[in-house]
Amino acid sequence: MTITDLDRCHVWHPFTQAQTAPDAIPIRSAKGIRLYAEDGREFLDLISSWWVNIHGHAHPTIAAAIAHQAHTLEQVIFAGFTHQPAAQLAHELVQRLPAGLTRVFFSDDGSTAVEVALKMALQYWRNHGEGQRTRFLAFEGGYHGDTVGAMSAGKGCGFFDTYGSLLFEVGLLPYPATWDGDTEVEAKEQAALAWLDTYLADHGDTLAAVILEPLIQGSAGMRMCRPAFLQALAARLRAAGILLIFDEVMTGFGRTGAMFASLKAQVTPDIICLSKGLTAGFLPMSVTVASETIYAAFLGDSFDKSLVHGHSFTANPLGCAAALASLQVFEDEQTLAKLPHIEAWHRQGLATLAAHPLVQRVRVMGTIAAFDVVAADTGYTSPIGAQLKAFFHAHGLLLRPLGNVVYLLPPYCVSEAELAHAYATIAIALNTLCD
Ligand SMILES: *Cc1c(COP(=O)(O)O)cnc(C)c1O
Repeated sequence: MTITDLDRCHVWHPFTQAQTAPDAIPIRSAKGIRLYAEDGREFLDLISSWWVNIHGHAHPTIAAAIAHQAHTLEQVIFAGFTHQPAAQLAHELVQRLPAGLTRVFFSDDGSTAVEVALKMALQYWRNHGEGQRTRFLAFEGGYHGDTVGAMSAGKGCGFFDTYGSLLFEVGLLPYPATWDGDTEVEAKEQAALAWLDTYLADHGDTLAAVILEPLIQGSAGMRMCRPAFLQALAARLRAAGILLIFDEVMTGFGRTGAMFASLKAQVTPDIICLSKGLTAGFLPMSVTVASETIYAAFLGDSFDKSLVHGHSFTANPLGCAAALASLQVFEDEQTLAKLPHIEAWHRQGLATLAAHPLVQRVRVMGTIAAFDVVAADTGYTSPIGAQLKAFFHAHGLLLRPLGNVVYLLPPYCVSEAELAHAYATIAIALNTLCD
């Protein structure tokens, strides 16, 4: 039986309607930005394989670090035990994060990093004798993962209506999305802040925390906001004594052009969630990093004050070794210094599309570029997304529009010529839509 036969018989794929989706494409190997399919085709991976890859596929430094670690210590229980890769990684992350984020809790993926953050925030208040603070606020369009708590926080993304009965109550702030040449951004920001002021006046004493994706909402369609908005939001929450959680699962590790979106926005949250780029896309792992004040609230004589959370593979040494190697590559290859070039190449490419009648709301931040395709149906299930995806696959590009939003989010090893090729292919795709 072929891979496709076996897959068709036994595999259940994520976020896929198997009855109508084309067969999954078997990939044999990958190197740098390229994926090599079993049938000989090549694809340029312009979405970093669901936003996880950083330095390119099969990077030798990271592969070697994982192999070495596998021969030394592959896994050990993390309650009552520790190991060099985990302790060293915690130290290295704290050095790079905004000052004040000092306590690293390990888990397995972006969703669980968010679950941990929500539990930390709730219990922080309970341990402080403010058990009435049980409400959470999130943003319209926000996405935080697919587990139940993360779905609750992310119910503004609209994917999860089916699971509504499982979700807890979360308030949704309006999100002031903006783009190049947007003249209404200030009005949108003022409206969102006014909404928050009203909410704080009504429910401020029962609110535990606000969670958001700083600067860029990923799944909602690479919707960007301004640093000034996050600064105003954070100032209000600080004044009201409410915790701020940044979900940097997608924006972390250079995506926005800075190591973290919080650094770029100059806002320090109380809790931060990191995952996708953490191991450079090699292994599933995440961290939730809290301030020392939060950590201190969990200290006491009794077990019930401690954080009752942990996973079988917490702080897996292979994942930690991959993450440490990735940070090493950031230094060896001066990766952060490459990112302004990627942003400039995006701007060049988008400039060639900007006058196209189907292109609107062009936006760029760091390594991420996006625009909306004018369409009758917008949103994640817009048929234009499937149509464009099929065109891109047929032309050797791994691009996966979010409904009518086309975005590029490449590994940092991408070249100017590769991006120019991608934009030229996108222009052809848009022309086929006009025919
Ligand atoms: C992908 C993502 C998650 C969920 O991460 P998983 O590893 O898929 O569980 C959470 N938050 C944001 C912002 C994400 O982009």
